[in-house]
Amino acid sequence: MSDYLERYPHALMNTFGPPKLVLVRGEGSHVWDDQGREYVDFLGGIAVNTLGHGHPAVVEAVQRQMSTLGHVSNFFATPPQVELAERLLELAGVAPGAGKVFFTNSGTEANEAAFKLSRRTGRTHVVAAEHGFHGRTMGALALTSKAAYREPFEPLPGDVEFVPYGDADALRAAVSERTAAVLLEPIQGEAGVNVAPPGYLAEAGRIAHEHGALLWLDEVQTGMGRTGRWFASADAGASPDVLTLAKGLGAGFPIGACIGLGEAGDLLQPGNHGTTFGGNPVACAAALAVIEVIESEQLLAHATALGQRLRDGLAADPRVTEVRGEGLLIGLDLVSESSADVVAAALEHGFIINNPTPGRIRLAPPLNLSEADADALVSAWPAILDSAGVGA
Ligand SMILES: *Cc1c(COP(=O)(O)O)cnc(C)c1O
Repeated sequence: MSDYLERYPHALMNTFGPPKLVLVRGEGSHVWDDQGREYVDFLGGIAVNTLGHGHPAVVEAVQRQMSTLGHVSNFFATPPQVELAERLLELAGVAPGAGKVFFTNSGTEANEAAFKLSRRTGRTHVVAAEHGFHGRTMGALALTSKAAYREPFEPLPGDVEFVPYGDADALRAAVSERTAAVLLEPIQGEAGVNVAPPGYLAEAGRIAHEHGALLWLDEVQTGMGRTGRWFASADAGASPDVLTLAKGLGAGFPIGACIGLGEAGDLLQPGNHGTTFGGNPVACAAALAVIEVIESEQLLAHATALGQRLRDGLAADPRVTEVRGEGLLIGLDLVSESSADVVAAALEHGFIINNPTPGRIRLAPPLNLSEADADALVSAWPAILDSAGVGA
């Protein structure tokens, strides 16, 4: 066993359980552990490493910005911060002025900002979805339905109601004139890649807006090209008021964003919210580089095509009972509740994959994953399922 795995539990809080490996180096979609073993990374740091490891454009942008101006506080503006906010508004389909951005360092903080923004409507009731995940800080946790995450920390900020995901009638019954916001993920990532039924997000928007409530879409996992579109909700006709982003935004550099569209962009006013690091010029420079590379390398189209190829290849094994997701956010249902064994077997075969639930596998590889790497997993897949004893 690696020396670091022995030292880890004595030095780090036991919040994540024992780590699987000690990773020391990455290049593109490949990582190496401290024993010199190589793995293909189909998890991408949980949908974070949009461009894999060490993409030269991101490295160059971070190095250049860090050596030019590393941090200034929000008493001052910086060019990367303003440029990134403008780019994100453009990607969200609005002109600067028709929306505004608040930068954070993580997904949970993007949702905290949006939660506080929603209170500025003068209402407090929030309707969120069962099996949704929005983060681990107290506010975001209040919006997350999983009892095991919430209950040890109650009381949490109140007036949150959970409805079954994908059920427009249940949503309609829950939303009223006292509802500040309806909060949904376009695809529920942590739940194991639950895709909303067609028309659900558009209906959610109509329901929210009929009652003067905000539609807040948490795109922390689904945004930034993950699904083959800049935002998973882009073509859904949902008219969101708030979008939250993080994971893939900095492709490994920590940054999140709360985007208020239309009047929602003006709900937070001076004194209402703040952050020391959020909007840091280095993080913003990283995110600007990520956007440029996704465009120049045409990674939205690549994610769409490669995602289809992976889904088709992996679903060809009859021990996969259902395939879900869009682009390179992929969920696989197995015939048995053996996803932990499959993850362990995949690691033995040199592939990093993930098990969000006992019966489900999730893949969220870099958007620039090669066809050869995708095909390598597809070829090894039956042997991985054999090793894990799935359907034996
Ligand atoms: C990961 C995730 C979060 C939390 O992001 P952190 O950066 O871990 O705080 C929030 N919402 C969704 C949908 C996520 O997938």
